Amino acid sequence: MSRLWSRTTASLVPYVPGEQPQDRRYVKLNTNENPYPPSPAVEAALRAFDPAALRLYPDPESRALRAALAETYGVPAERIFVGNGSDEILAFAFQAFFDPDPAAPVLFPDVTYSFYPVYAGLYGVPFRTVPLDDAFAVPVDAFLAPCGGVVLPNPNAPTGRALPLSDLERIVAAHPDRAVVVDEAYVDFGCETALPLLDRYDNLLVVQTTSKARSLAGLRVGYAFGSRALVEGLERVRDSFNSYTVDRLAQSLAAASLSDPAWFEETRARIVGTRERTARRLEKLGFEVVPSTANFLFAKPPKLGGAGLYEALKERGILVRYFRKPRIDGYVRITVGTPEEMDALVVEVARLLGEAP
Ligand code: PMP
Repeated sequence: MSRLWSRTTASLVPYVPGEQPQDRRYVKLNTNENPYPPSPAVEAALRAFDPAALRLYPDPESRALRAALAETYGVPAERIFVGNGSDEILAFAFQAFFDPDPAAPVLFPDVTYSFYPVYAGLYGVPFRTVPLDDAFAVPVDAFLAPCGGVVLPNPNAPTGRALPLSDLERIVAAHPDRAVVVDEAYVDFGCETALPLLDRYDNLLVVQTTSKARSLAGLRVGYAFGSRALVEGLERVRDSFNSYTVDRLAQSLAAASLSDPAWFEETRARIVGTRERTARRLEKLGFEVVPSTANFLFAKPPKLGGAGLYEALKERGILVRYFRKPRIDGYVRITVGTPEEMDALVVEVARLLGEAP
């Protein structure tokens, strides 16, 4: 606390990202990064990049990247917004679409991406959390109630559970005059995208990222698809904040990553295969594993507790994510790494539990 802070700054409870340790090498399964390097097309674009171009500001509208996204996803470029990671787009969305009206709170699940309440705090947006059921499924009917808008990750994080498109459509259709933001950070690992709904619902914003399935978390490029009204809302917020949120190199490398569908298909299939094999192995060791369509597993160990397992694995050089929060403090979230990394995880877990791997 400082006397120099504004009242807003003093009231913030900032998001705490997963550790990026510098002290030693870990098997790093804590922040849902992709274990494989990005497409060779990204490396080629990096080598071809002319540093002299950095003399000039980037295109504030990311036109070349939006054209590449339009081609890849079949959505017109004027209905695409590009941002500095999908986190930035989600933050812009809270400011662009939600009012500080206590009578109309924004809805999101009680167990979900912990940045949402932080954005709500930053922009003074009232919210109401909707409890997931005991299996961590989203109770669709509760999301049909009158509200100021909806934010829903699909698949949800940190659980990995997904809603089918038909359920998502019921939620979008229930709020024609409110923005429904579907956060699809992990959609490429086996979940249905809401993109087919875009033509019928002008209140739907679908947010995706290059950080996960395209293995570019370090580049900071996210994108959103929506009606022209929603995209213009995001543009208005951005252009009242910083015209150049996505730098030249990021625009160029993100576009290159879209040009290699073979790499994309192969690596995401590999990750899905590793995820399923690892889930079965953890179940054999007595874990409760939530069905996942993401690049991570949310799992409850039979003993040690979430905190105990997290600490013991960390001592042994394996980092997973633990959330000290009601309902989920018995669980850990494990990013799907390479088969070798998952072998190392399973061997250590088995040793800690006194079982054979
Ligand atoms: N949404 C969810 C549900 C996430 O887990 C993450 C990653 N922490 C993000 C959005 C943000 O991803 P990025 O800013 O890297 O695009």
